[in-house]
Amino acid sequence: MRLLASLLALLVAGPALARVKVVATLPDLAALAAAVGGDAVEVTALVAPTQDPHYVDPRPSYVLALSQADLLVVNGLELEAAWLGPLRLQARNPRVLAEPGYVDASTAVHRLGATATVDRSQGDIHPGGNPHFTHDPRAGAAIAALIAQRLAAVDPPHAAEYAQRAEALRGRLDTLAKATRARFAALSADQRRVVAYHESLAYLLDWLDLTRVATVEPKPGIPPDPAQTSRVLQAMKSTGVRVIVQEVYYPARIPDTLARLVGGSVVRLPGGAAFADGETYEAHVAAIAEALYAALAR
Ligand SMILES: [Zn+2]
Repeated sequence: MRLLASLLALLVAGPALARVKVVATLPDLAALAAAVGGDAVEVTALVAPTQDPHYVDPRPSYVLALSQADLLVVNGLELEAAWLGPLRLQARNPRVLAEPGYVDASTAVHRLGATATVDRSQGDIHPGGNPHFTHDPRAGAAIAALIAQRLAAVDPPHAAEYAQRAEALRGRLDTLAKATRARFAALSADQRRVVAYHESLAYLLDWLDLTRVATVEPKPGIPPDPAQTSRVLQAMKSTGVRVIVQEVYYPARIPDTLARLVGGSVVRLPGGAAFADGETYEAHVAAIAEALYAALAR
């Protein structure tokens, strides 16, 4: 009888102890949710920092995670358009089909790269504007504030904690953003220029006041043909820019060849924080800035 009573007590206590289940598409969004949620949440990232978030092979485990989620944090601006929609439907979880449980991070940030005319048939995979804003800690701070609001809506008892953690994170990210920008400002104008592989650096370059002189992909999502590669090489030669920046999941061969031809280097950035290994969002953005600085200052 005593055993039954304690079992019943456990069952009754269960929901109060349950942590909020957060699923984030990108590792950066997962790291931000973990920083804001602390012990009150349990966070799963669907995409690894080594995976191209535009093209992800859906796994059954994704549907399971989505079916159990209290909060789903997506990047938005159609970054996950090719793969997430069907998974959300299969998961049949009304909690993450609409607000407050469905969190679109792009609604919190100042968007760059929106164009009036969009033609997906020409391979444009950024039809609503540039979706790669998590490289910028100022965007990270704004997303953390949005996640805190939404966590508060689904878990009101912890609302104050969420707000405090998001505010503390904002302070740390502001400090990091300003100090890093000042450090890059000390480089010469010639050093503050790069070639991008994909149109994924807009927010990173805006944060650090750097200029992009060419992009290896002729359009977002389209690999370069020989004519395009030759145009990029000419741009590098005429401007003297020798640093190419790409995410680790893009092909290395053409950037390596271009860098060799101009005596330059390729900076390979992870697609996001190594969330599964415990890396924080702050540590990740500091690390990508450091890698970039080391190449530009050479
Ligand atoms: Zn992209």
